[in-house]
Amino acid sequence: MNILVLGGGGREHALCWKLAQSEAIVVNGGKLFSSPGNPGIAECAQLVSLDASNHDAVIGFCAVNAIGLVVIGPEAPLVDGLADSLRAANIAVFGPSKAAAQLEGSKNFTKALCDRAGIPTAGYVHCTSLEQAKQALSTFSPPYVLKADGLAAGKGVVIAENEGHAISALEDMFGGAFGDAGAEVVIEEFMEGEEASFFALTDGETVIPFGTAQDHKRVGEGDTGPNTGGMGAYSPARVLSDTLVAETLERIVFPTVRQMREEGTPYVGVLYAGLMLTQDGVKLVEYNCRFGDPECQVLMMRLESDLALYMLAAARGVLATLPEPTFSEDTAMTVVMAANGYPGTPEKGGAIDLRDAESAGAKVFHAGTSLADGALVASGGRVLNVTASGANTKSAQDAAYAAVAKVDFPNGFYRKDIGWREIEREG
Ligand code: ATP
Repeated sequence: MNILVLGGGGREHALCWKLAQSEAIVVNGGKLFSSPGNPGIAECAQLVSLDASNHDAVIGFCAVNAIGLVVIGPEAPLVDGLADSLRAANIAVFGPSKAAAQLEGSKNFTKALCDRAGIPTAGYVHCTSLEQAKQALSTFSPPYVLKADGLAAGKGVVIAENEGHAISALEDMFGGAFGDAGAEVVIEEFMEGEEASFFALTDGETVIPFGTAQDHKRVGEGDTGPNTGGMGAYSPARVLSDTLVAETLERIVFPTVRQMREEGTPYVGVLYAGLMLTQDGVKLVEYNCRFGDPECQVLMMRLESDLALYMLAAARGVLATLPEPTFSEDTAMTVVMAANGYPGTPEKGGAIDLRDAESAGAKVFHAGTSLADGALVASGGRVLNVTASGANTKSAQDAAYAAVAKVDFPNGFYRKDIGWREIEREG
């Protein structure tokens, strides 16, 4: 079977790397395509250039190339309804419809759904004007959690320490700092606790747990400095014990999938729940309608089952026919190597030499790389995801940093403490 993966970051490299090992490709002589892909993905898939916002062009490509499954990596084409167009053309697609992708595309949609389904999450007020938002502030206490309603590439959330800061952030949001995404704002109660990510595959009815992870969002060591798309991650998140996973499924994921189905907008694809482990139990921080980046890289490193089989079963509505997938007991860790300047303006064009970084079993996923005159250079903020595994988090960390040390990327930097919290717990 031929498979098309849309996207071109570290997440899509990890997905392509795993799909290229699938029976559908290896045994059945299928072909893997990726658009736009990147130089790392080019090692395991044929790169093509499709405009994901031109649904007819994507459908046309699928018809000509006998694509049996489309995997949509990033959120934007999902929120834009590409999965609906593909389904309407009878093409199997792994990813939710436009209506179901609202779980990520609108904070207010998800908060209201949580209300209807009784899902534990922070109390909130949905505000459609600056005046209303300013008034609503008085019903919360600091720190204030302010969120632009729509997609804002992870930058639409402000945690304000005091009222003055909160008001100026609200003025920015309603003033258009996040474009249309900030035309509506959700103010939330602040939740205290440790964060963890939980992943599930679903065809709208059957739910299959698909691993846990924790990431490091801040740019600096000790989790300091500005937020980023993620500077590193590891899986599993051992803080999510079997009991907490069961609680997450029972109280958060199952009711969400059920509610979406009952409301006529079944969710198909991977459901990524951002969780807060509070003293009152597990609460939902947010949903994402795709794999996390860089969490996907560590999940794929641990996944032993055939990814294509699970994605296809989710797309076709037959997940119930498959057994639970198996993941290695090992811990996988990924360290993000970023270009100097990130998360501000990253330096582009920095030379990269991977040398023998992968020699001891590590995998270097490309996130923001391109070729200039045949040589590998940085072309984005997050450039490489150096990924390795070990029997515990400490040994995964040792293996990942040993590989990082081999990479020559003078114009880049990385955090040296990925996994610190878990390693402290391991003792
Ligand atoms: P992401 O880049 O993770 O997709 P996002 O813009 O969709 O981010 P959220 O995940 O909702 O936004 O929030 C970003 C971060 O802000 C969370 O990971 C968490 O650290 C913090 N946060 C969000 N809501 C709360 C809350 N109610 N209480 C405490 N912290 C919160």
